[in-house]
Amino acid sequence: MRGWRALLLALALAATAPAPAAEPATTIVLHAARLLDVDSGRMLAPGEVLVRGERIVAVGTAVERPREARVIDLGDRTLLPGFVDAHVHLFLHPGAEDAQTFDESVPERTIRATLAARADLLAGFTAERDMGTEGAGSAASAVRDAIDRGWIPGPRLRVCGNAIDILGGHEDALGRNPEQHALPNATPADSTAELVRVIRAQVKEGADFIKIYQTGKDRMQHGELRAPYQFSEEELRAAVVEAARTGRRVAVHATAEPGTGMAVRAGVASVDHAYQLSDDTMRRMRERGIFAVPTFAVLEYFIDHATTPEAAERYRAIQQYHVAQFRRQLAAGVPITLGSDVGPFPHGSQAREFVLLVEHGMTPLDALRAGTRDGARLLDWERDLGHLAPGCYADVVAVPGNPLEDIRVVQRVDFVMKGGVIYRNDPSS
Ligand SMILES: [Zn+2]
Repeated sequence: MRGWRALLLALALAATAPAPAAEPATTIVLHAARLLDVDSGRMLAPGEVLVRGERIVAVGTAVERPREARVIDLGDRTLLPGFVDAHVHLFLHPGAEDAQTFDESVPERTIRATLAARADLLAGFTAERDMGTEGAGSAASAVRDAIDRGWIPGPRLRVCGNAIDILGGHEDALGRNPEQHALPNATPADSTAELVRVIRAQVKEGADFIKIYQTGKDRMQHGELRAPYQFSEEELRAAVVEAARTGRRVAVHATAEPGTGMAVRAGVASVDHAYQLSDDTMRRMRERGIFAVPTFAVLEYFIDHATTPEAAERYRAIQQYHVAQFRRQLAAGVPITLGSDVGPFPHGSQAREFVLLVEHGMTPLDALRAGTRDGARLLDWERDLGHLAPGCYADVVAVPGNPLEDIRVVQRVDFVMKGGVIYRNDPSS
């Protein structure tokens, strides 16, 4: 309990302290038994990082120790770049999704989102892509900005606002009484002109990227996954062009062909979920560096928490299908980033996704790359984070033991630094 009290105190201080940038640059040397260079795959032993202000100055087995430096010895731990989760929902929590978006006010959901952001950061996730507020409009822009200003603790965020859907699409309150005119959990657009207009509105409200629901709902039929596509390839291409006009990219929720292939040919940045990709789609993704973002942790949670045996069976069938397809995607060299879809399951528990990537066929090193370096690339932050290198933000986490030997240790992060500020250091936990 003492650890938790100290943690809460530290959080309270972090919440009330002025923005880190306003403080004089402090110098810190982090020392631990190991440090993983995710680019080369080499494990340095010991590992040290010299931090000045919000950036990394040097990395090695023995860095310079300036006289003013505070040295933090983390003992038998491995230093890693802060984790990157490319698919989160800060505005969702466990429980019926439609009910929470219907019953809870946007102010209430925003307060919950700030708590979710804190939980994710303390679990080691120092950068995240929020894949839609699901009916809370552009509130994610305010959460992102509050974190950047140092008002509240949380990961660096890329946000898309409300995401985009079609009439009668995946997020359009399906199954509700039509006479109640329940609002969809994403902004509808039913033509190229509407799509462009909605993108412009979301950019105006602070979106860093655009999220489009491209398939849904999913069902298994004769051992194959089926999901209707939502936008035509032409519409998606127009969306990609409009987003690019202001330097932004498009991400799609897309589970099955032909929707996944249409999105890839239109030039999206990532295909999220990606349960089913044709050989041609996989080849294009490899050639163009388009990421698949498998989301295993959320499916596992849905299976474990299904309300009926039939629902559990339905999720299990999709999971088994997804795992088989994922192995094909790995063999085909499809770029993969880590994305957990956390929100429907508890924030702060999503390091489980690393473990599942390894269980389903990735090497521990590649899984760690997917959740650091490659995630940074997808979030357009590859120069600033995702590896421990001079010039990068000092986003550093530590785990007990060696994650290349046992990936599960990533679920036991006990040191978190973001931008040179220490948010967690409780090795006794
Ligand atoms: Zn999602």
